[in-house]
Amino acid sequence: MSFTYQGNQLFAEDCAIADLAKQYGTPLFVYSKAAIIENWQQFAAHWPAPHKLCYAVKANSNIAVLNVLARLGAGFDIVSGGELARVLAAGGKAKDVVFSGVGKSREEIAYALEQGIGCFNVESAAELERIQAVAAEQGCVAPISLRVNPDVDAQTHPYIATGLKANKFGIAMSDAREVFRRGAQLPNLDMRGVDCHIGSQILSAQPFMDASERMFALIRDLRAEGIQITHLDMGGGFGIPYQHEAKLDVSGYLQSLQERAKEMGDLTLMLEPGRSIVGNTGVMVTKVEYYKPGSEKNFLLVDAGMNDLLRPSLYNAYHDIVAVQRHEGLDEPLVDVVGPVCETGDFFGHARHLAAEEGDLLAVMNAGAYGFTMASNYNTRPRAAEVMVHGASATLIREREPLESLWQGEHLLGEDA
Ligand SMILES: *Cc1c(COP(=O)(O)O)cnc(C)c1O
Repeated sequence: MSFTYQGNQLFAEDCAIADLAKQYGTPLFVYSKAAIIENWQQFAAHWPAPHKLCYAVKANSNIAVLNVLARLGAGFDIVSGGELARVLAAGGKAKDVVFSGVGKSREEIAYALEQGIGCFNVESAAELERIQAVAAEQGCVAPISLRVNPDVDAQTHPYIATGLKANKFGIAMSDAREVFRRGAQLPNLDMRGVDCHIGSQILSAQPFMDASERMFALIRDLRAEGIQITHLDMGGGFGIPYQHEAKLDVSGYLQSLQERAKEMGDLTLMLEPGRSIVGNTGVMVTKVEYYKPGSEKNFLLVDAGMNDLLRPSLYNAYHDIVAVQRHEGLDEPLVDVVGPVCETGDFFGHARHLAAEEGDLLAVMNAGAYGFTMASNYNTRPRAAEVMVHGASATLIREREPLESLWQGEHLLGEDA
């Protein structure tokens, strides 16, 4: 793998992480280009054309990451106009973009139509009417897929389960036919696909297969009514091991899905993997500021906070935390690894065995997905720098934010206010 020890030193490919931290400072996200390529190819190898893969941009949207994927022929799944602009800036093509999300604004729809995106994944009847109106104004025809909620339990964290009836996402299976009929009557819409996305960090193929059966049944019904559905997009959600979880058998799932789809005649399959492409390709490097022993607990206070990597605070997510330079023979006390942000929820790990002292570097593993993209400036903390390594070289792909930029655009009241 891409993050391994050489002696007692943690490396990213052939770069010593301690050297990167010295050069670029901490907190620092370090990504491995080789790992991104490897993950992508694991999907692509089992997914022959005409089936399509659209990387879910929100997992990690740095333009260098998007560019690596664009060069591999990736399509992109976006959830905002901003993400479309990023994809284009990174060398992606609009026609390879699918636009998901429950709250698309008129402006975002107009922008996406002007750029000529591949498909809208529509999440409500009201959105369908809005896209019709904007497409009519532009005198174009909008390619449409309906995101249908298959009502399967993905057995994941409640915040990232999206395929249940109780979730805000998608159109209920029971309403789908009616919304399709309506769409088929609207002159500026081309109703060509169905999609679903049942959640994230799913570690069993069963929920995906259950969802696909329901989607196949829907496609058969729609075709029987004369609505020619030509693609099925099964979304993303492929889980990765963060702790000791058994790996999801992605290739097995991809093969079963294609087998089943053969019975459907002319049907292109699409997927929107995010986490599974970038999750294990990045680490967050942070420096120990203080060791604070206590009667109840010992704390390692580090220079990264929940504003840099939110997943532990938001989902109680587990991330391995390792020493960048291992000390031989040192005691490994039980510690909580916590940040400087003024919230008790500001932590990276509880009850870890770690030998570290002031100035030591730690790496929070598997931080490539939903890491930097969820970062904020809470507590007026500049967002971290990002580096991508490729073999023995490293490129700064995002500079650390300068402090003054954090209040740029803010204004004092006038003299007599
Ligand atoms: C977030 C999201 C994805 C990607 O999910 P992962 O769990 O990162 O694979 C795909 N499709 C949609 C619609 C999403 O919202």
